[in-house]
Amino acid sequence: MSEKKQIALLGSTGSIGTQTLEVVAAYPDKFEVSVLTANRNADLLIEQAIAFRPNVVVIADESLYGKVNDALFDADIKVYAGEEALAQVTQMDEIDVVLTALVGFSGLKPTIAAIEAGKNIALANKETLVVAGEIITKLAKEKGVNIYPVDSEHSAIFQCLVGEFHNPIEKIYLTASGGPFRGKKREDLLETTKEQALKHPNWEMGAKITIDSASMMNKGLEVIEAKWLFGLKNEQIDVIVHPQSIIHSIVQFEDGSMKAQMGLPDMKLPIQYALTYPNRLKTDFERFDFLNYPNLTFEKPDMETFTNLKLAYHAMEMGGNMPCVLNAANEVTVAAFLNDKIKFLQIAEINEAVLKGTELLKLPTLENLFEADSKARAMASELVTSV
Ligand code: NDP
Repeated sequence: MSEKKQIALLGSTGSIGTQTLEVVAAYPDKFEVSVLTANRNADLLIEQAIAFRPNVVVIADESLYGKVNDALFDADIKVYAGEEALAQVTQMDEIDVVLTALVGFSGLKPTIAAIEAGKNIALANKETLVVAGEIITKLAKEKGVNIYPVDSEHSAIFQCLVGEFHNPIEKIYLTASGGPFRGKKREDLLETTKEQALKHPNWEMGAKITIDSASMMNKGLEVIEAKWLFGLKNEQIDVIVHPQSIIHSIVQFEDGSMKAQMGLPDMKLPIQYALTYPNRLKTDFERFDFLNYPNLTFEKPDMETFTNLKLAYHAMEMGGNMPCVLNAANEVTVAAFLNDKIKFLQIAEINEAVLKGTELLKLPTLENLFEADSKARAMASELVTSV
C-alpha cells in the first residue's frame, strides 16, 4: 500500500479544488490524487489529469464524456461521466480521504457514498451538512468516519479544540468579514449589481459562495454547519463581524477562557490541515505581522439588512426539512441573481417566501430531503419568474 495519502478530490476545477491541487503539488511525498472531478470544465479537468495522473476522472456533464475520454485515451486514466459515477468513485479501495469541494446540493450523494464506504471526509461543501446534518453525522459515527472541516471558520474551531476533548464548549463565535456591503443599509442595496457583489474584500472564491458572502447567507450556512460538526445547541453559536478576516473563529470554554485561531486569510492552510490533522506541515505562506494590523475590530452583524442570516438561524431553530428548503431556495435565487433575473435584495425575499410556504417536517428521511429540495427549487423558480 502507498505511504502517500490518496485523495479523491471532488470539484477539482473550482476554487477549493485548484487550491487543493496546489497543496498536493507542494508535498508530492505526502499526497497523491486518485480521483479528480468536474461538472462542465472539461478543458481544466483534462489539464489537471495530465499533470496529476489520477486513476480516475469524472465529468458530471455526460455530454462532455467523449471530449475528456478522447483527450485522456492514451494516458491510462479511466474516464467516467454522470452523477452516479461521481458517487461511486468515492468508494474505490485505494482512497484514504474524500475532499468534497463540489458546490451546493450536488455534494450530498457523493458524501453519503463515501461515508458508507468508510472513507474519511475533508469537507468544504458546507451545503451537505446544512441539508442533511443529522443524517450525515449519525452515519459518520456509525461508520467510524471522521469529518475534517475545510471551511476556514470551522477549521479554526477544530484547531482550537485540539487537546480540549474533555472540556465542554460554552459557546463559539464564527467570524464574518461582513462582505463587500458591510455597513450598507437596505436602501443602499436596491440597485446592487452582480459585479459589485462578486468583489469580496478578503477572499477569492467561487461565484456562489461569493454571493452568499455578500448576502450573509454564507455565514448562515456556516452556523448550521457548525451545529452539526461540533454537536452544538443553537444558542451556543454566535456570529461576530471582523472585517480584517485575521481571527478565523473563537471557542469559549466553561471557565470563560477563549481560544482563537488566527493568520492571514489563505484557504490552503485549512485545506492542508484537514489532510494532515493532527500534524502541521511547514509552509512558506506569508506570515501575519501585527504591526500591519494595529486594529482588529469587531461588530454586531446587521440582520435587518442581511436578512439571510436571520433566516438561517430561523431555519436551524425550526429544524427538520427547513435548512434543506432554505438551501435549495438560495441555490435557485443566487443563480437567478447571477443570471440577471432578480435583484440582490430579492435573493433573501424569495428565500423567505419559500421557507414560509413550506410545511415543517420534523424528522425527515433522506428521501424526504430530496423531495423537499425539489419542491423548494420549483417554488423558488416560480417566484423568480413572477417578480
Ligand atoms: P466553485 O464554484 O469554484 O467550484 C465548484 C466545483 O464543483 C467545480 O469543480 C465545479 O465543476 C463542480 N461542480 C459544480 N456543480 C456541480 C455539479 N452539479 N455536479 C458536479 N460537480 C459540480 O466553488 P468553490 O470551490 O468556491 O466552493 C466549493 C465548496 O466549498 C462550496 O460548498 C463552498 O461553500 C465551500 N467553500 C469554499 C471556499 C472558497 O474559498 N472557495 C471557502 C470555504 C468553503 P466546474 O468547474 O466544471 O463547474
